[in-house]
Amino acid sequence: MSQRTTEQVYGHHIDGDWTDGDGDETFASENPATGETLARFQQGTDRDVDTALAAAEDAAEAWRELSYIDRAEYLWDIYHELRERTDELAEIVTKECGKEISEGRADVIEAYHMVEWAAGNARHPHGDVIPSEIGSKDATMRRKPRGVVGCITPWNFPVAIPFWHMAIALVEGNTVVWKPAEQTPWCAQIIAEMMDDAGVPDGVFNMVQGFGDAGAAISEDDRVDTVLFTGSAEVGHEIASKVGGQPGKLAACEMGGKNGIVITEEADLDIAVHSAVMSSFKTTGQRCVSSERLIVHEDVYDEFKERFVDVAERVTVGDPLEEGTFMGPAIEAEHVEKIREHNQLARDEGAEVLVDREDLAAEEIPDGHEDGQWVGPFVYEVGTDETDLECVNEECFGPHVALLEYSGDIEAAVEIHNDTPYGLAGAIISEDYRQINHFRDHAELGLAYANLPCIGAEVQLPFGGVKKSGNGYPSAREAIEAVTERTAWTLNNSKDIE
Ligand code: NAD
Repeated sequence: MSQRTTEQVYGHHIDGDWTDGDGDETFASENPATGETLARFQQGTDRDVDTALAAAEDAAEAWRELSYIDRAEYLWDIYHELRERTDELAEIVTKECGKEISEGRADVIEAYHMVEWAAGNARHPHGDVIPSEIGSKDATMRRKPRGVVGCITPWNFPVAIPFWHMAIALVEGNTVVWKPAEQTPWCAQIIAEMMDDAGVPDGVFNMVQGFGDAGAAISEDDRVDTVLFTGSAEVGHEIASKVGGQPGKLAACEMGGKNGIVITEEADLDIAVHSAVMSSFKTTGQRCVSSERLIVHEDVYDEFKERFVDVAERVTVGDPLEEGTFMGPAIEAEHVEKIREHNQLARDEGAEVLVDREDLAAEEIPDGHEDGQWVGPFVYEVGTDETDLECVNEECFGPHVALLEYSGDIEAAVEIHNDTPYGLAGAIISEDYRQINHFRDHAELGLAYANLPCIGAEVQLPFGGVKKSGNGYPSAREAIEAVTERTAWTLNNSKDIE
């Protein structure tokens, strides 16, 4: 186990070296299940970001000259290390962000799947042969790295999401400056150690620990050619609007959602209840694809409501390190407060509260975890004429879920589904393929599921949203668009010049 001590302060990884950087401020990584301090880290400053960006710029030319396959070799080492150390890393993920251990493991597995995809893709075609109007001309599209990629990542997938961004950026020939989430610096430090162990050349990978100001220093700097951001809509919109004003610079931002599950009159209610419970409460509702709106047909509404409420009353929180725990804590005290405020918003807006386990009883908290950040399910119903309420439109990012009853056909359900500013993920539960296909074709979202919990993703599929949820795909095949430039290359094979 890569133990850390609270006696020492851990630094940044810049230009191939571990450094304390320029600042005097430090911050702690805390276990949200116990309140225990796990380790202390240096807080990055503008100067640290400046040094990291200078190193990334200096390293860019040599790195882009390597072949795709040579660049991918570094990542294969990391792939094997992630596989060998999965259980150890899963434990650190769980300690640092409170996810249930099975979810901690899933985070690491998704990370090595992404690394495998990116490194394997080095041997796949990276351009197109395109017909020319003139027979003697060869027309092709060639890709080039954009240069320096700034990566800014959230806490809730502290191993997988950094690799969504960085594995592809690096294999495609870019150098990277990364600002990990302030809640999960230990996971970030281990990723930086892996880059170091794999011998990634100095300056090609740089990591500056710290808060939003360090993220802003990266995203606003002219030396950054592409910003890859995953996190809240608030921050993502700020980044996208600033970068949008700078010609030649790109931002691919993946943000939150107010995801819905449509449960039709044709639904298998066992699947419906299971999907809704998993999607709304697993990981304490802190996934970008968690569902906070259940849109249920009137014919099955009462039965679904009774069964869903029954489970919501009974789901237990537990020590996330114990196999089998269903729900861990929220990430931090500030976030528990935000969840409480969102619950209060629903009460203030007149929603009918069905389950209120915001304050868990002392006996529900696992022994020895009294200082953890615990919060239980909150379930309410609103009328279909109340879909403009803020509580059913803004992301809570907690175990907070609304039931909305609809009547009529699938068109009516999809209309309610689409009536939010977000468009990340959603699901339909139905045994009728016409309803399923209608949802697939008309629901406004990037990730659609049928007869499955709206919960996960596979790295080879596009991962992104529409509307307020995203303006780009900082992962897998689609991320290649954000981290490469295209050249239309035309060669004349004849002596004639036309
Ligand atoms: P957050 O937006 O608070 O922070 C994300 C990152 O941005 C952190 O590293 C943070 O330090 C940095 N940051 C904060 N202010 C910044 C600024 N002004 N400029 C640049 N960087 C700044 O998000 P979070 O709380 O870490 O994560 C939860 C959010 O992420 C939720 O909204 C969730 O839905 C979303 N999320 C989306 C996806 C997706 O793929 N769509 C995946 C996971 C999480």
